Amino acid sequence: MVKKVLKFGGTSVGTIDRIQHIANIIKKEQLNGNKVIAVVSAMAGKTNELVKMSNEISEEFNKRELDVLLSSGEQVTCALLSGALIKLKINAQSWLNWQIPILTEGDHTNARIVNMNVEKINKFLDSNGVAIIPGFQGISKNGEITTLGRGGSDATAVAIAKIFNADTCEIYTDVDGVFSTDPNKIPVAKKIEKISYDEMLELSSLGAKVMQSSAVQTAMMYDIPLEVRSTFTDRKGTKIFSQENIDYTKSVTGVAYSKDDAKITITGVEDKPGVAANIFEPLSKAQINVDMVIQNISSDQKTTDITFTVKRDEISKTKKILKENSKINYKQIIQNEKVAKVSIVGAGMVSTPGVTYRMFRALSDEGINILAISTSEIKLSVIIDEEKTLSAIKKLHTIFDLD
Ligand code: ADP
Ligand code: ASP
Ligand code: MG
Repeated sequence: MVKKVLKFGGTSVGTIDRIQHIANIIKKEQLNGNKVIAVVSAMAGKTNELVKMSNEISEEFNKRELDVLLSSGEQVTCALLSGALIKLKINAQSWLNWQIPILTEGDHTNARIVNMNVEKINKFLDSNGVAIIPGFQGISKNGEITTLGRGGSDATAVAIAKIFNADTCEIYTDVDGVFSTDPNKIPVAKKIEKISYDEMLELSSLGAKVMQSSAVQTAMMYDIPLEVRSTFTDRKGTKIFSQENIDYTKSVTGVAYSKDDAKITITGVEDKPGVAANIFEPLSKAQINVDMVIQNISSDQKTTDITFTVKRDEISKTKKILKENSKINYKQIIQNEKVAKVSIVGAGMVSTPGVTYRMFRALSDEGINILAISTSEIKLSVIIDEEKTLSAIKKLHTIFDLD
């Protein structure tokens, strides 16, 4: 007998028909003799709809109340799926986050799971029951409902797999697996059969939302193998596991993009020691994450321009902090929100020379200007004009033999 965690994303539970469809998937697993814990997301679009409603009341909607609101979407799908299974004569039961409880630490809207009570649910599984658990949420030690950040049902699934010592953790979604790039944007994208945690972590942190990055991080930390597969086809999915089992014939495994960055340039800053620290210290204290930084020395050798990127939704806060900073003198603050970050990721990059120059040459052949660059051992990211995103992904996908 195998203990399985099966996670179903928003599209997979998006309609009543689909919920009935996944009830049948679960029934089959149970008839095959497996113990099943199902983790569900809210119906597709539901969480966005709830965010929108809160924004209509206030852009600064109270975070505690936001968590109470957002967690409701997953409660709905839990009850519907459990009801659908009961109709199929399966002994199913939903558990809400506080009934288990799923204990979390950290801020509202950005908490992480630290523990979970396993006793009641294990007993239920032993009595041939199927447990249905809401993704994306938990309860703090003070009894407050918390959520885990967008896409957080993946993190719930991985945490459950770890805490319940499950044999497998399967992520059911609306595509056949992890692809070389977003298959909904680039139809020639190829499904990846196996991918390492490191590469998957880079891809998801750089925008491939097929897996939430903190879920991948937990899986990597505790060596929990994952499989991403489709709810709607029987095709084999993508296995995510540790690097030793993977053979790297390609320098680049995938191309990712995100449109949540913005670029800020401060012109005419004094060119002397301590200036960069004076600019970035208050930003870091305000928890603003600065991604890429570029400094241009000016011709007069006295002043310089500093360019950096932050998350797009933090741009107003960033500008306010810069303007209130009495430790810096500058001429102007220029912002550009119409930028995108395009990245190539591949563990094979380490042993393949020339990847960097090939990427830059390919972008220049497409007439795409690079506004900022950042690299690590297995990834290379550039900031470009947002409107060039698709042509950049297409070109990189082709020249690195991914089509
Ligand atoms: P779920 O609701 O099941 O959690 P998500 O919408 O969070 O699903 O993630 C699946 C989506 O991720 C796909 O529909 C696809 O458009 C997008 N995606 C982005 N990059 C990739 C990639 N490299 N491989 C597969 N899907 C990707
Ligand atoms: N419903 C949540 C979201 O849309 C969590 C998830 O789907 O994973 O972000
Ligand atoms: Mg998701």
